[in-house]
Amino acid sequence: MRAESVETVRRILCVFPRYTSAFGTFEFAYPLTDGVQAFMPPQGLLLIAAYLPENWPVRFVDENIRAATQEDFEWAEAVFVSGMHIQRQQMNDICRRAHAFDLPVAIGGPSVSACPDYYPSFDYLHVGELGDATDELIARLARDPSRPARQVVLKTADRLDMARFPLPAYELAELKRYFLGSIQYSSGCPYQCEFCDIPGLYGRNPRLKTPQQITAELDKLLECGIRGSVYFVDDNFIGNRKAALDLLPHLIEWQKKTGYVLRFSCEATLNIAKRPEILAGMREAFFSTIFCGIETTDPVALKAMHKDHNMMVPIMEAIRILNSFGMEVVSGIILGLDTDKPETGQHLLEFIEASQIPMLTINLLQALPKTPLWDRLMRENRLIEDEGRESNVDFYLPYEDVVNTWRACMSSAYQPRKLLERYDYQIRETYPNQLRRPASRQQVSWKNIKLGLKMLRNIFWKIGVLGDYKIEFWKFALRRLARGEIEHLISSMLVAHHMIMFARAATGGRYNASNYSMKLREAAVPAE
Ligand code: SF4
Repeated sequence: MRAESVETVRRILCVFPRYTSAFGTFEFAYPLTDGVQAFMPPQGLLLIAAYLPENWPVRFVDENIRAATQEDFEWAEAVFVSGMHIQRQQMNDICRRAHAFDLPVAIGGPSVSACPDYYPSFDYLHVGELGDATDELIARLARDPSRPARQVVLKTADRLDMARFPLPAYELAELKRYFLGSIQYSSGCPYQCEFCDIPGLYGRNPRLKTPQQITAELDKLLECGIRGSVYFVDDNFIGNRKAALDLLPHLIEWQKKTGYVLRFSCEATLNIAKRPEILAGMREAFFSTIFCGIETTDPVALKAMHKDHNMMVPIMEAIRILNSFGMEVVSGIILGLDTDKPETGQHLLEFIEASQIPMLTINLLQALPKTPLWDRLMRENRLIEDEGRESNVDFYLPYEDVVNTWRACMSSAYQPRKLLERYDYQIRETYPNQLRRPASRQQVSWKNIKLGLKMLRNIFWKIGVLGDYKIEFWKFALRRLARGEIEHLISSMLVAHHMIMFARAATGGRYNASNYSMKLREAAVPAE
């Protein structure tokens, strides 16, 4: 559904802020593609765009692709912004630019919902999810499009049922400019890991769309030009196991109908390894990557952070089970925990070697507002407000030692030889367990072949000729070429190259040691 039509027409400019570079933004892979400029289409802003009254013209600008122009601001009567904590500086900058045109600016999304006080300059704060606050915002703008005399805070008390969400306005985004497609089936997570703000923001009882909404969204994503992979951005894909089981047959049917042109990935808790019936369905639906917040292999630390569910199956066994269903595991890791010891870094490197997980997002612990960790550290007087620091946590170990451990782990884990050996393992041991997709004319279309050839040419030229890890690259690439594993060569090199270059830049001090850190740096992903 969308908001009720109102007689007054308002032109709304939705602006998504630039990202600061992070593990998961993949910008070092973009030059290897054919014109990708941004990570994933922002679900929240495209949802709001779709919800606005039908007669309200909407423009969407993702500043990772191009900056909002003078013409955009002159066209608009109001500006909507949304984003995460890491985009805070950029959101405040959009607000400043919109105010130069005397436009009212509203901000919604996860960051303002957790920390309204981060955004003192905005005219409207939309706190919480789509719901009565959204209707109130629309009504106020319809009545009066000028800037209110003082900031108005609108809090959602009555959320719109996700089963009534409109299809996100993917038609407004240039989907072929995105590295991955995104889709959301559920919101919320039943667990309460100490550091995580999801249960506080979105609740412990996951709310759901219907499987029919998801297949309609997938149809729309395809129609609007998405290709390659689609990421389920659900906080935990098995937050409601029955719902996951209900969805999978619909995804399988959809894949059969459309010729398996897309592969899926998602985030889920590691105890998914206990659910072979879910894993079998995911394999059939062609899920090929699963992000699991392993965080640490230390059972004492897992208990302390209330993540005991990671120990329901021994961690290494759980990883092997997921691999046996054809899914490569991507792992979140946290350093700087209270339980860390001087040897924690060495243990992490041993784990990486044993698990053969290629991609791990290794972050320093950061306390986010609205989390039990924040509350505990506040009580213990261990929160440090210093924007020059890599973390706001006063670690038990000396700060420099923790940062040095992070640096050493990043440098070692992402040495080209080691990373490509881990991909070699996945190609030998995991990918052969994936579903053998029936060949379809959609997969072997001339468009796809041309895209593959372009990416191959870029990889050979930019890494194999101009790159500085040529020997390791060619060892890896020649093995793939000899075995006809072209698709694996392209997909692993896109990610591997990003991780190698990102790790070098991060350990050289150009990027933060936490995806969540507020350390002030220039946004490194350029808007043109
Ligand atoms: S399982 Fe994941 S999403 Fe759920 S509370 Fe823990 S970290 Fe957050």
